[in-house]
Amino acid sequence: MTIVVVGSLNMDLVVRTPRHPEIGETIIGTEFQTFPGGKGANQAVAAARLGGAVRMVGRVGSDSFGESLLSTLVADGVDTRFIRRDPEASTGVALITVDEAGRNTIVVASGANAQLTPKDVSDAEELFRDAAVLVLQLESPIPAITQAIELARKYGARVILNPAPARKLEYNFLRGVDYLIPNQTELSLLTGLDSIQESIAYLHNVGIAHLIVTLGEDGSIVAENGQVIQLKALPVKAIDTTAAGDAFVGAFAVALTEGLDTLSAAKWGNAAGAIAVTRPGAQPSLPNRKEFDEFLLRLK
Ligand code: ADP
Repeated sequence: MTIVVVGSLNMDLVVRTPRHPEIGETIIGTEFQTFPGGKGANQAVAAARLGGAVRMVGRVGSDSFGESLLSTLVADGVDTRFIRRDPEASTGVALITVDEAGRNTIVVASGANAQLTPKDVSDAEELFRDAAVLVLQLESPIPAITQAIELARKYGARVILNPAPARKLEYNFLRGVDYLIPNQTELSLLTGLDSIQESIAYLHNVGIAHLIVTLGEDGSIVAENGQVIQLKALPVKAIDTTAAGDAFVGAFAVALTEGLDTLSAAKWGNAAGAIAVTRPGAQPSLPNRKEFDEFLLRLK
């Protein structure tokens, strides 16, 4: 059984700088690095490294960044046949500056990601036939995501939505989702409520059967069938929390395809998130299956 990810691919362009420039100011930074990113690609890689059979649907530009993003996905074993090369739009980029205190500013140009159409998704219909799980985020246009949910429904795949970046969503849209995995900020934006308990009740009424809220160093909460269970974060030394959420979602998806229940899948998510925060970067911090299994064994 396979995992289909419909989502974004970005090249992260990171410059280190002693301080952030003022408007109109030019300053000399230090190190420059490029990293493959985008929530869709990160979650695809997270799942593939843990042994998931992952197929991705998305768009990159016909430029060198696009080329390089595709080859890193292929190296991680992700099926990229349905990632289109847009003839006009550039590959999505995130321009990131990080100062000496580790504070960052980020400007994302979505580029080709914003051009993903419902037709791109329906052209990939064959991927949905043997899909157990569909994984979605909100860095792609809503019509394309809606098309993906329809195909998942048609072929009986379960739908995971990581509603990031945070935004409000239509009631009807949310009803197509089986597993909603927001962090705390995304949860309150989604429901317009500050309290986690009230948000859980609200989403339960909307018809979300399984809600998993990630709480950073406080672990996560699993709410289903009127039951709410808190999972503590695993004790690790966190050095960089980038992609913790993506690690969580990828691991959760693989666990579902291996037949685990929601609570056990969330435990996998907790473990993958904990490993990711002990290492720098997004995709480089995502564990492979061997590291993951060893980590789980040490917890016993
Ligand atoms: P996001 O990156 O989407 O904001 P979170 O920060 O909630 O997501 O992190 C996702 C998951 O990663 C958490 O639910 C938790 O399991 C794990 N995690 C995050 N930060 C830590 C930490 N400091 N120690 C241990 N686990 C962590």
